[in-house]
Amino acid sequence: RAHDSKTMRYEFYTPELNRGANERFKLESDLRRAVGQDELVLHYQPQVDLRTGRVVGMEALIRWQHPEFGLIPPGRFIAIAEETGLIVPIGAWVLRTACVQIREWQRAGQSELRIGINLSARQFEQHDLASMIAAVLEETGLEARFLDLELTESMVMKDVETAIGILNDLKTLGVQLSIDDFGTGYSSLSYLKRFPIDVLKIDQSFVRGIAQHSNDAAISGAIISMAHSLGIRVIAEGVETEEQCAYLSQKLCEEIQGYLFSEPLPASEIEVLLRDGKQLPMHLLRQKQ
Ligand code: C2E
Ligand code: MG
Ligand code: MG
Ligand code: MG
Repeated sequence: RAHDSKTMRYEFYTPELNRGANERFKLESDLRRAVGQDELVLHYQPQVDLRTGRVVGMEALIRWQHPEFGLIPPGRFIAIAEETGLIVPIGAWVLRTACVQIREWQRAGQSELRIGINLSARQFEQHDLASMIAAVLEETGLEARFLDLELTESMVMKDVETAIGILNDLKTLGVQLSIDDFGTGYSSLSYLKRFPIDVLKIDQSFVRGIAQHSNDAAISGAIISMAHSLGIRVIAEGVETEEQCAYLSQKLCEEIQGYLFSEPLPASEIEVLLRDGKQLPMHLLRQKQ
């Protein structure tokens, strides 16, 4: 039976499209409620120092405990939150919750533990971002140097002069600034030098191929040596295997984060990991010179 291709496309795609739009609409209205109803949770993923094998920081990663759909990853709702502006109250909640949590772990004995927070583009453009962060630090008693704000290349490259101003304001507070997913966006070395950045996080897409693809190994190695020559530290993301870790150690990368050491975990499970003093094994660490 002959079908007109337009008709087929229509018949096939319309229900799909509706389902997508409905799901999105539902998530959007549910998200408005979720913010006030304790449905958002933070998981924490350890960042490990390659010189000592010890946990030195945590990245806070948001999840949504939806009453019908279960645990929803950020990839499915952060964009909706951005577009609706809900990211602003959500982002403020993330910052406050993570600072309170890390302060608690510091008091319990991890006195130098750092917390990484992902900032969204919308938050980065809020004129009162620096004063909001200052207020949360004041309120929670967390020292600014233990807060690491993760930005992306696209956020800082959109309007470079404005971004440098915002970054300088944030640096004045004493916080640490990181570029997340480094290597996936578009940023030029000449700008990188002008940004007051403390850390580059090598994107997991390069880390993943370290053992199989010589290009990925070369790119990861080049990011590390370039960062070091600019006085910037490096955290490798998405480290899953011992081979990847050993390569990064050999290239003098400072820290790793990834499933090899730990997935992002709820606070209660992080407490067990800290209490047990979990460390990276010696053979994966940087050799002393
Ligand atoms: P990201 O900041 O680059 O976070 C790293 C992502 O990689 C996390 O995904 C983490 O679970 C995942 N990951 C960590 N180690 C491994 C590994 O060894 N292998 C693999 N395959 N994946 C690994 P997640 O938690 O789904 O978060 C995705 C993205 O959502 C984050 O990417 C970040 O851009 C965004 N996000 C998460 N929490 C927040 C938040 O509180 N605010 C904002 N604005 N964005 C957030
Ligand atoms: Mg991040
Ligand atoms: Mg990343
Ligand atoms: Mg990312």
